[in-house]
Amino acid sequence: MKILATDLDRTLLPNGSWESDSEAIGLFNDLTEKNDVLVVYVTGRNLALTENAIKEFGVRYPNILCSDVGTSIRKYENGEWKFDEGWVDHVKKQSPRWDAMAIRDAVVGINGMREQESEHLNQFKQSYYVEHEKNDRVLKQVDERVKGKFDEVIVYSFDSQDGKGLLDFLPASATKQTALEYVAEEFGAAKEDIVFCGDSGNDIFPLTAGFCGVLVKNADDQLVENVKKAMHQNPELQVYFAKGDFKGLNGYYTSGVIEGAYHYRVFD
Ligand SMILES: [Mg+2]
Repeated sequence: MKILATDLDRTLLPNGSWESDSEAIGLFNDLTEKNDVLVVYVTGRNLALTENAIKEFGVRYPNILCSDVGTSIRKYENGEWKFDEGWVDHVKKQSPRWDAMAIRDAVVGINGMREQESEHLNQFKQSYYVEHEKNDRVLKQVDERVKGKFDEVIVYSFDSQDGKGLLDFLPASATKQTALEYVAEEFGAAKEDIVFCGDSGNDIFPLTAGFCGVLVKNADDQLVENVKKAMHQNPELQVYFAKGDFKGLNGYYTSGVIEGAYHYRVFD
């Protein structure tokens, strides 16, 4: 089985400031269908925002959705979403000290961060907006109060498009990486048979976890740098950097995903 996993915003979705190929999304939809590829979306979006993206951009429904930065998994079958309760049990077992409310209490009063709206929070996702220019100081205080106490990971990413700093507390067992590992195991796929495409921040985890990685051409400089560092430390990592000028496509967003999928022979 061929599994193609991809981040959405500014990876599969052309919602950044770079120019996009108008035919790329139709091509992605056709190629995944024709090549019988299992498509997985791995995104920070929640379910409602994912459905908005599908409608707005015309990307196909995925077979599997790892949403809310990997904290929820759903299958899409016969026109319906099926929530994966097994994932919830798995995370609770793997991260027994996880406690979103205790983290919330622990960070109360840190200047420069504010809790995100309730639709961006769930039992495994406690998230904040951070004033980016204060992020060093905020993250230092966050570490002092939280780090290592709740079986958590602390993920900071900067959205260059709207200038927002985003801070997620997640169980260490419920990230984009571990969600994709769980999907791999369910389908009996080896990690090196799964392609993952990303562009920024929290994509670093699945890109350096042994999957076949793809960076679209518009990937953040910081992500490119971090991935190169990881490749230097672990020469077995496979990551492809989309270059563009490929079958008439420019390498940005969807075009980079298609280029990467061809590179790993997901598409013939
Ligand atoms: Mg992205």
